Amino acid sequence: MNIAVIGTGYVGLVTGVCLSELGHRVICIDQNPDKISILRDGISPIYEPGLEPLMIDNMDAGRLDFTTSMEEGLSSAEIIYITVGTPPREDGSADLSHISQVADEIAAHLQKEAVIVIKSTVPVGTNEYVKNRIEGMLANPVRIRMVSNPEFLREGSAVQDTFHGDRIIIGTEDEESASIMEKLYSHLQIPVYTTDIRSSEMIKYASNAFLATKISFMNEISNVCEKLGADVESVAIGMGLDKRIGNQFLKAGIGYGGSCFPKDTKALMQIAGNVHYDFKLLKSVIEVNADQQTILIGKALERFGTVRGKRIALLGLAFKPNTDDMREAPSIAIARHLINLGAEVIGYDPVANGHAEHVLPVQVRYAETLQEALWQADVGFILTEWAEICALDLHQVSLWMREAVLFDGRNCFSLGQAAAAGVEYHSIGRKSVA
Ligand code: NAD
Repeated sequence: MNIAVIGTGYVGLVTGVCLSELGHRVICIDQNPDKISILRDGISPIYEPGLEPLMIDNMDAGRLDFTTSMEEGLSSAEIIYITVGTPPREDGSADLSHISQVADEIAAHLQKEAVIVIKSTVPVGTNEYVKNRIEGMLANPVRIRMVSNPEFLREGSAVQDTFHGDRIIIGTEDEESASIMEKLYSHLQIPVYTTDIRSSEMIKYASNAFLATKISFMNEISNVCEKLGADVESVAIGMGLDKRIGNQFLKAGIGYGGSCFPKDTKALMQIAGNVHYDFKLLKSVIEVNADQQTILIGKALERFGTVRGKRIALLGLAFKPNTDDMREAPSIAIARHLINLGAEVIGYDPVANGHAEHVLPVQVRYAETLQEALWQADVGFILTEWAEICALDLHQVSLWMREAVLFDGRNCFSLGQAAAAGVEYHSIGRKSVA
């Protein structure tokens, strides 16, 4: 099929590349000319394992192209994906200005009947709003059908998730659109659940809010574990053996970040608030996460009294491993706080240093390697569980550092490993190793 994907970010690029890999003819449209220019050169603007080679293969096969021109992009499209950002406004609600702008451009350029698929995460009712907006402004009187098809990929494993995800959700009001979408995804061995548009829009927010709840719940459990001398890692294993609970997403740490959970939980608070519902549980989930993001600083202050003048290495800056995405990464709040407290901060991330420079305080210095970051440091903060960081030889670390004191926000090491290496080790929901 001929497909146009509007918005070539994390979701749009992965969607476009993967649909072309399935044999469809795809054109990705973005308003950012620099992005389109490097994509045309075969370079992925984002770090995502496996994405760039797949992109190049499909460009070479003539199935994948990039443009800034809406007119060119929409000229032969049978299916149009909307994958632009829906960032949070100041009050936490979803900013739909990019969606509205795209709706206007579709209305201006659409020349023939098309299915319009909203993949961006949008508040309940947005598909209806977009349909009315486009139909109200169509330059050519053609039929449009709306489909809500929320995205569930995880950055860092986005390609794998697209080909082997747990489910595909299709929200539509007509059977023909449902069968077009089912045919489109028919080569993927992924269960498809078809429902009405409003429920589909809600499934995305409810799923993210539930996962965020699991994380905040385990973080609260970890804080209680610390006070009681229990070990949250063992508690999580024991809990996860119950099939009703499941063993996923029970990892305690320094809270969730990224472009989705923080934004979508706050947006759902607003969505509920708009219909006069006070979502108390979700409010607490958000509060717990905000506190948890800086919990390592509390532990360091408890240990040292002050961090003024201490050289602190931040190991891992991206919000999670295998991505260069810095949006809402806990490293941002931590670095700001440490700088305000007078610490000397040096950051290291295998791929996100460049992006970090734009969002962390200017006082932060960057290291090219883990050794450089830890060299003569007084304290190490582990913020992202990159494989490279979890594979550190703690004995070696103790030789590099001035004082071998580690605060591990991701529980990368066992207490036995820390004790054997002679490092002072403070982690989440476990006893400290002195
Ligand atoms: P992003 O910011 O990485 O990309 C958005 C792209 O849209 C940018 O390249 C921007 O230039 C482009 N754009 C904006 N307005 C445009 C316009 N009028 N015309 C053409 N291009 C335009 O965003 P993202 O992370 O890919 O997220 C997109 C949506 O998908 C959001 O709603 C997000 O919540 C949702 N989502 C994201 C993820 C994720 O892991 N990133 C996962 C699931 C769902």
